[in-house]
Formats: sequence, C-alpha cells, structure tokens
Amino acid sequence: MTETQPFKLLAIVAVDPAHRVRCQQPHCGHSVYARIHVVDEADQLIVLGSDCFAKRYGVTHTTDFHGHGSGGGRVLTEAEREMLINNTKALLAQFEAERQRELALAEEKHQRKLELAEVTRQKEHEIAEAKSNSLRQLFAARQARFDPSQIQSPSSQQQPLIEPEPPPMEVIPPPRWAGLKKPNSSFFAYGMGNSQYWVLMQSASHAGCFIAPAPTPFESWDEALPPSLGKVDADREVYVSDNNINVLVGWFASRCTNGSCIDSDAVAIQQFALALQKPNGT
Ligand SMILES: [Zn+2]
Repeated sequence: MTETQPFKLLAIVAVDPAHRVRCQQPHCGHSVYARIHVVDEADQLIVLGSDCFAKRYGVTHTTDFHGHGSGGGRVLTEAEREMLINNTKALLAQFEAERQRELALAEEKHQRKLELAEVTRQKEHEIAEAKSNSLRQLFAARQARFDPSQIQSPSSQQQPLIEPEPPPMEVIPPPRWAGLKKPNSSFFAYGMGNSQYWVLMQSASHAGCFIAPAPTPFESWDEALPPSLGKVDADREVYVSDNNINVLVGWFASRCTNGSCIDSDAVAIQQFALALQKPNGT
C-alpha cells in the first residue's frame, strides 16, 4: 500500500561511515551514510535511505547507489545502536535548527522588502513632487518672460558603490579543546547571539562531553551556562558535562540564533565561529 503524504525533500546528504544514521522507514532500521534523504513530512523531519525514500513516496527515480551502509544483515551491538540513535537525533536537530534559522531569515527578508517598497514609494512621490514643482516654476518663469532654459531640473545624485576589500587570509591555529574530543565523533558548534559560540564534543576521557567557548574564551564564559549543563574547568577553559551529547545538542540547537555547524575538524569549526563573529565586530 503506497499512500503518498505531502512531503518536501530538504536535502540529500552524506556523512562519513563513522557518523551513519538510522533510516526511519518503519521496519527498515538500516544504517545509512550515503544519500541520506532528509524529508519534511507534515512538519516532521525524518531521514530515509534512498530506497526507502523511493518506496515511501512512490518516487520512481532510480539511483545507482543502494544507499544503505553496512550493518544491515547482522545484529547491531548495543554501542552501535546507541551511536545510530545519537547520530540520527543530532542530524535532525541540526536540520531543525537550520530550518528555524531560515524561517527567521525569510521573515526578516520579507520585512526588509516591505521597508524597501515604502522607501521607493516615498522616493517616487518626491520625484513627482519635484517634477510638478519645476513645471510650476517653468510656467511662472514663462509668465514673467524669463528665459526658461535657466531653470534647472533637480539633478539626481548617484552614490558610487564601494566594494569592501576581502580580508587577508588568516592562519587559524587549532584551538586548545581540539584534543579533548573522542575519536571518530564530531564537533557541534552553535552561535547564541552576543558573539557567544559554543562547541560541544563527546569526551575522549570521560563518559560525558565538553562544552568549549569559541573561537576563544570570551568574557564571563565561565558564568554563561547553567550548572546543570556542566562544571567549569578553568584550566582547560571548558565545561565538563556528564550529559549525553543528544541532551546538549537539543539544549543548544533550540537556543541557537546565530548559525550552527557540525564538523570533525576543529579548525573548520574555528573558521565557522570566526566568520560568523566578524560582521558584528568586537
Ligand atoms: Zn530504509
């Protein structure tokens, strides 16, 4: 039975096999890392392998890649199962955060358009006014037998556009927290406004996570987060958290207002934080 629900394919993404996610088609349960279809179905985000995507929506586009990664035929270990669930939640949280951000941007754009239309309307009004003024002057001048050619029409001045110079290339040193991450896991970076960026990572040394201020520890970073998230480690300049990465991703993704990023490369995460921090200046 193939009943097609209204859906929107948001993206087809690939992650490295270490970060594979679980296909959410009922009874499938395969792990997927290539051609992950992220779908918005009735405002619910789901991830599907390409085969299950075609099955679920009756889409007959055939792909040369099967889409499902390893782990299909055998029983998953408890750790593998947990990792799949974690990765799936993290990927969906990431897309949800992106979507919220896009909605906010679209709303902002719409507002700006309205403002622009208002400005244009005023300008047109002024031009029309100026035209009728100069006509009136011309008419008055004619009547006074002045030379009409002396009357000047209002000149429009054009402001030259100035292109900002590209900033010089920067060499970004790996941050202090780069070495705290568990191997084969990702950094999750979130912008929280006030130029505050936080990087979450699963810990290489304990069962929980670390939360680091980025790109560098900002003022009062050690008082910025609630104690329930973690304890301040002033030496390493991080919060040490006993929370699961999903709990932290959920907490930050729902409060993130200034962009987010997942990457296993610490320098890429730093670049993200630096790039987003710049326009506001500090
Ligand atoms: Zn599937």
